[in-house]
Formats: sequence, C-alpha cells, structure tokens
Amino acid sequence: MAMYHSVTDCPDDPYRITVTPDRLERQLRWLAVRGVRGVSMAELLAARARGEGRRLAGLTFDDGYADFVDHALPVLRRLDFGATLFVLPGRLGGDNAWDPLGPRKPLLTADGIRQAARAGIEVGSHGLTHIDLTAADDLRLKAEVVESRAVLEDLLEAPVEGFCYPYGTLDRRTVEAVRSAGYRYACAIDPGPLTGPLALPRVHVGQNDDAVRLFLKYRLHRLRRRPVEGL
Ligand SMILES: [Zn+2]
Repeated sequence: MAMYHSVTDCPDDPYRITVTPDRLERQLRWLAVRGVRGVSMAELLAARARGEGRRLAGLTFDDGYADFVDHALPVLRRLDFGATLFVLPGRLGGDNAWDPLGPRKPLLTADGIRQAARAGIEVGSHGLTHIDLTAADDLRLKAEVVESRAVLEDLLEAPVEGFCYPYGTLDRRTVEAVRSAGYRYACAIDPGPLTGPLALPRVHVGQNDDAVRLFLKYRLHRLRRRPVEGL
C-alpha cells in the first residue's frame, strides 16, 4: 500500500508530504505499464479475501487536502485508478493546523469530500482532528474514533469501513478502540508486531521517489506484508 498526502506544486514542504501532480502521474503510470492497478483499500482487501489482488496496489491519501480534488483526482481518473482518502471530519474546510512548521494547506469541505466519493474514491476516517491517539485519554480516543465515523457516514450517507491512525502511531488500546468502533480495517505506517487488518503497513511515496526506488519499495513491501495476506 502506498501512502500519499498532498498533491500540488508547492516548493515549501518541510515535512516532505507533497508530490507534484506530474510526479504523481509518472509514478502511477509506471505501475500501470507494469500491469499494476491502483485501487482503494476496500477494493484491495476484498480482492485479497478472494485470494486475488496480486496485480493491485492500494493507494491512500491522508489528511484530505483540498488539492486532492484539484490535482490527484484528475490523474486517478485518467488512469482509471481508485484510491482511499482519509479525512478529518473535525476539521472540514479547515487546514493542517497540527503541523507547526509546514505551510498551511486547506482541507476539503464536506462538499469536496462528497465530490471525491461521487467520483468513486473510498472515504475513510483519519480521526476527528489529527491527534496522537496513543496520548489521548479514553474519552477523547473514543470521540476521535467513533464520532469521526458517525459524522462521515452522515455526510456520505454510506458506510465508512476504514480508519487511518494520525502520525501512524498506535498501540493495543488504540487498535482495540478502532475495532470496537466497527471499522473493518485500519492503516498504519510501520506497525511492527501489531500488524493485522486493523494495523496495515504502508509505504510513504515522496517527490523524490523515481521509478526505481518506487519499484524497490513496492517489492519490499510485498515481501513484508505477506503475513497479513489472506485476510
Ligand atoms: Zn495525517
């Protein structure tokens, strides 16, 4: 599974979370040429459950930046690729205020999220406000996990199956909270021994990942994730 954040022509990027639309298109075309199709996490996991999906790559976009609709969606549509967008329903139309150093980047409004969903993009929860859930007390943890799902399901009038841990930080307690909130899967970054359907590893793809590095990441990732295949 490949993890993206923001897609725009933005030179000021201290967290290295931005790729340009051109670079995104080149990376995804590179997969397409090799017979690999980018899909949402829901589609990937459904295929794996049927024992398929070897030529599929899960594509995820974290935080729900407004530039997703303007810059990533057209690229995905040109290639007929799917993806999962993890949004923050507690910050609709807000910005990435949780990044103290980075440039302010606007987040999608409710309408923008609906627009992505109408275009076939899977929408999942990234919590309400982007906090480190392992540092939250029980009440706050529950609100972030349960309320974010309820708000999104209201907004989309559809079930929300996926969660994504802010910062990729998780522990047994947060995984349990995600499980009891009813999510079917959750994305992390490098969850180590917690790896499973509610702690799926992902690879960060950045602006400097040329085709060769992307290929190596893809192969390594396939090897690493083998223990969770067949979920
Ligand atoms: Zn995030």
